[in-house]
Amino acid sequence: MTNADPQELAKFGELAHRWWDPESEFKPLHQINPLRLAWIDGLCPLKGKTVLDVGCGGGILTDSMARKGANALGIDLSTKPLKVAQLHAMEAGTENVEYREIAVEALAAERPASFDVVTCMEMLEHVPDPSSVVRALGTLVKPGGWVFLSTLNRNFKSFMLAIVGAEYVLKMLPAGTHEYARFLKPSELAQFCRDAGLELHSSKGLTYNPLTQRYSLGSDTDVNYLLACRRPL
Ligand code: SAH
Repeated sequence: MTNADPQELAKFGELAHRWWDPESEFKPLHQINPLRLAWIDGLCPLKGKTVLDVGCGGGILTDSMARKGANALGIDLSTKPLKVAQLHAMEAGTENVEYREIAVEALAAERPASFDVVTCMEMLEHVPDPSSVVRALGTLVKPGGWVFLSTLNRNFKSFMLAIVGAEYVLKMLPAGTHEYARFLKPSELAQFCRDAGLELHSSKGLTYNPLTQRYSLGSDTDVNYLLACRRPL
């Protein structure tokens, strides 16, 4: 049995053709990408690194890491976004990037301890068993390597901002994009990481200012947050 929700995969499949349109439903991913890319590259310079991007979708982060000089592999379980990602790489002439439809748990069995860097962004909140994904990330990364995660916190503020605000008031995302019950508190995600043999390095919060319509990285982890972890040598 695959650790995936077919409805979630279908949802991303239906929107896939608009993935690289910076004014589409994927606008927030386009807007946050330079911030998360700079954060990752600042902690672990990507040039020459072997990188895995889990739940890569249309490849916004994967492609940008390859453009920083990494050898990047993006995996997902939704077919159409992967095709869009491949097509984009061809059109944009991105080198050193590959995409594959495979479950992260299956890749962990196939290629343990193979990647200098593993990223898994905005994906855990769409998966039935996020702890199983994090375990697989811990297996895939090399000893001494980095794992970067991001997801949505679970509290009243994140419900009001990430669901009511983003989906119903500002309509930045289609209604039904996120399910509150699948949000993860940083303490819960940190526990999954420790259980996967990963050491927590640092965290960042991602905030959105509806007036300036800009995102920024800071210390407020109440809604959207990122964790950096390392696998001990
Ligand atoms: N990580 C990308 C895309 C986020 S959208 C970025 O941040 O730019 C969420 C992605 O997770 C979608 O592409 C969806 O197909 C994928 N996804 C959802 N469940 C998944 C699963 N069980 N395994 C792999 N990918 C999954």
